[in-house]
Amino acid sequence: MPPEAEEMRPMVPFPHIKDVSAYEPTTFEYNPGDTHPQPIKKRDWIRVFRMSLPEFTKRAKMDASVEDSERKSEIFQERFEKYLDDLNENEDDKLMNVIHMCRFRDECLRKLGFYDCFQTVKREENVKALEALPRVLERLDNENAGILELVKGVFAGNIFDLGAAASQALFSNNNDKEDDIAKSFFETRDTKTDVFVVNDFDSLKNRWNDMTRVHEKCCIFVDNAGADAILGVLPLAREMLKRGTKVVLCANDVPSINDITIKELEELVFPTLLQMNDKDNVFKKAIESKQFTCIGSGSDLPVIDLREISEPCANECLDCDLVVLIGMGRGIETNLRAEFSIDRINLGMVKHKEVAQLLGGPLYSCVCKFDSAKV
Ligand code: MG
Repeated sequence: MPPEAEEMRPMVPFPHIKDVSAYEPTTFEYNPGDTHPQPIKKRDWIRVFRMSLPEFTKRAKMDASVEDSERKSEIFQERFEKYLDDLNENEDDKLMNVIHMCRFRDECLRKLGFYDCFQTVKREENVKALEALPRVLERLDNENAGILELVKGVFAGNIFDLGAAASQALFSNNNDKEDDIAKSFFETRDTKTDVFVVNDFDSLKNRWNDMTRVHEKCCIFVDNAGADAILGVLPLAREMLKRGTKVVLCANDVPSINDITIKELEELVFPTLLQMNDKDNVFKKAIESKQFTCIGSGSDLPVIDLREISEPCANECLDCDLVVLIGMGRGIETNLRAEFSIDRINLGMVKHKEVAQLLGGPLYSCVCKFDSAKV
């Protein structure tokens, strides 16, 4: 197991939470009780986690770095099923929340030696997406993409996610039919990102288009490897860089599902961007001048509790005036209602029907949350 998994680093709050004592890293009730108006109950959340199990078991079984992976993947499956059964029986409310459930699943895998069982698929997806990126950027430049196209690009990228049962199916279909990931990305953007279930787009657009107060520095908490971080987030970051904004990508230190890690950004993504001939060499110049950087968030989960990020990440975020939270885990399930003292954007595609129902929209609707600084 890589040493960083064992290390206990000091964790500190993200410096721009409006009121840390009022902050809760959860958007929904996980055990609302039968009389509570929320229609999604404890048993439904447990089912969501149960449905994710086959993909995790499959990836664990395929993990060539673990000896006896087949048997160990079965042990994982049994332990996690038992955990879910126990949760069902147990009345302790504290155990019933998204952070706790994600943590149990990841720790259960790690204890069996599965430190990063999505590593191979992440690598393949990162390489494919990086190959497609110049074509995606060229087309975005040609179409003079504005904030709407960029935000929709983030949604299109975010649809590719092996952590959610519904999009696993979509992902395999797409892969079978379409090798050209750039083409597939634009098709997804132009056909599957029209329904907004949380829609602050107009105020976001007004703020974005106000060139008299361009943001000075933005921290982006990224989500998945592959199309998500590379084809969705990087074009948005590049547009910010072109406007003079400093951009920091904050990524997991410890692998969790198919989320991109700081190591993957440092060892593969940034070196590739340095070599890339995008128009005006935006990435190369920004990386060389340190206008564009990345940092480990300290997280080991597919969601994020912003009371506990790494100290270097918190320090890097101190002078940010914009935070962007990408994806269902970080942007919807854990921080949709969080309040910040700087401008904030949450962008994510809804990939669980239970979450869609709670937000009042269909599966694969888009969340575009924007708030101006609250001081
Ligand atoms: Mg993810």
